[in-house]
Amino acid sequence: MKKVKKNSRGSKRVTRRGLMLVLSSPSGAGKTTLSRRLLEEDKGIELSISVTTRQRRPGEMGGRDYHFIDAAKFRTMKRNGDLLEWAEVFGNFYGTPRAPVERTLSAGKDVLFDIDWQGANQLKRKVGKDLVTVFVLPPSARELHSRLRRRAQDSEAVIRRRMAEAGKEMSHWDEYDYVIVNSDLEKAFAELRSILAAERLKRARQSGLAEFVRAMKRKL
Ligand code: 5GP
Repeated sequence: MKKVKKNSRGSKRVTRRGLMLVLSSPSGAGKTTLSRRLLEEDKGIELSISVTTRQRRPGEMGGRDYHFIDAAKFRTMKRNGDLLEWAEVFGNFYGTPRAPVERTLSAGKDVLFDIDWQGANQLKRKVGKDLVTVFVLPPSARELHSRLRRRAQDSEAVIRRRMAEAGKEMSHWDEYDYVIVNSDLEKAFAELRSILAAERLKRARQSGLAEFVRAMKRKL
């Protein structure tokens, strides 16, 4: 049902169809910082919290960063069709629970996904036009290396492996709708917000537009 709501100033706000925003990048490109900030500053978008079979890292919290589950539970969810998409990344399983995404979209909000290229491709096949995909690139190999090193938790061997993995992940940049080169966080964040703002204004997403214009014309 299409609705035209009134905002606090009494002028009419056109209802729109929620979108699904995928943010992918190799680790160390700044994706987590960008998505946290977006979620803080924009109350119209909510994060899809994935399930994963990987171990919880220090500082991570179940239900906030991921839902940490075992392989048996993951298989059951997959079999029951409870996952919108899933992938194996570095030997662990990750998946997007379907129900919360559907709930958020039907509440009129957008959904943010921090998932890899495999998940982005599956979502594209399933949800088509409701999906907007953004890939974040680091400004240079050197900068990526020093960002990974700054994370301190990892040994030199792990950093080298992550650099190799980053190379593989990065090769999928051209499957995305938008690419942001994150050389400056403020600029990258402004670019991300612009993408979201423009996508929300797409005519096809403004589902209440026809009624909005009809109502306005009646008063002319
Ligand atoms: P990490 O283990 O470092 O948190 O995540 C590893 C990779 O898995 C990241 O590229 C992340 O975006 C991706 N990932 C996290 N959750 C999901 C998911 O639900 N589906 C898919 N396809 N990838 C995910």
